[in-house]
Amino acid sequence: MGRVVRTLRPASSRGGGRIRFGEKEYIDLSSNDYLGLSSHPKIKEAQIEAAERFGASSSASRLLSGDLELHHDLEREIARFKDKEAGLVFNSGYQANIGIIGALCKKGDAIFADRLNHASLVDGALLSGARVFRFQHNDLDHLKSLLDSERDKYGEALIITESVFSMDGDKAPLRELVSIKDKHNCQIMVDEAHATGIFGENGTGLIEEKGASQSVDIIMGTFGKALGGFGAYLVSSKETVDHMINSCRSFIYSTALPPAVIAGNIASLGIVRDEPERRETLLKNADFLRDGLKSLILNVRGSSQIIPIILGDNNTAVTMSDALKDKGYWALPIRPPTVPVGESRLRLSLTYNHSREILEGLIDGLSQAKGL
Ligand SMILES: *Cc1c(COP(=O)(O)O)cnc(C)c1O
Repeated sequence: MGRVVRTLRPASSRGGGRIRFGEKEYIDLSSNDYLGLSSHPKIKEAQIEAAERFGASSSASRLLSGDLELHHDLEREIARFKDKEAGLVFNSGYQANIGIIGALCKKGDAIFADRLNHASLVDGALLSGARVFRFQHNDLDHLKSLLDSERDKYGEALIITESVFSMDGDKAPLRELVSIKDKHNCQIMVDEAHATGIFGENGTGLIEEKGASQSVDIIMGTFGKALGGFGAYLVSSKETVDHMINSCRSFIYSTALPPAVIAGNIASLGIVRDEPERRETLLKNADFLRDGLKSLILNVRGSSQIIPIILGDNNTAVTMSDALKDKGYWALPIRPPTVPVGESRLRLSLTYNHSREILEGLIDGLSQAKGL
């Protein structure tokens, strides 16, 4: 494999499921704005109002003077939303994961991590100094055999997984993982970055859908994806949250999120509660698209709003992406090291703004591109 050169591509505008480069507009199939909330008027209004009232910046870390009542309002709301005792806001999901794991585990402890975990979870595990064991993706037998042979040699043990996987769009077997962690005296941490706002009766995530809110020890997720804002959250026991405030370096040593961002995030939790049709439509459309792609005999994975088409080598993925671009669809090829070698893919990421007509056009476009 040659070295993949990554470049930045500034858009002139985006939102509502579309992206523009200069004058050219595309249907955007590569954002995480799953519910279309990034352009929701109520969120923008809440952001503007908070900036007017509290200013543009928090101007200090939470433990100095950057801590506003507003941050605590969001933490109460997110804890209630996720049905956990306490919440803590982080400046991004990346910062949350690199900090939380290190505050929970240290040298002499063990981490059992799904092989396809996001880079932020991988980095957090490595930084912690704990011994890291990676189990094959969603492979409970592999996890159990690692626990059987290794668990007892270490102090604390933490199992880490995503609930909906970012590049495969599939779901972790959460109920089974919870029973395994109980049996082996571990804690479990679940990253709900791609599930928050979408799964579960109340849209709080896959953990809610599986009835596992009380049995998952540490839950994190981001506000920057389906919630249409920015920042991240941890929800857990009060004891764990207090421990983070005292020892999580990425929480302590960084300026607090600005008031506008916090107020926008509070507003978006209200919208998830009040507008369930967004997630219902999204998931129905995802089923429609997945079925359409399968009927083209494409190798499609996942069971969520993230729909990867596995194409194998880099060239095929790039050619397909270019062919779609010609037809007005912006779907980017995902290549190693983001995904395993030989599994280059197009990752189609649906949003509420993608209508059936748009999806039908996409299926047509792919059927023609396939003939290339
Ligand atoms: C995007 C993502 C993160 C990072 O969140 P940011 O808020 O974008 O930093 C963490 N975990 C997973 C699984 C993600 O997909």
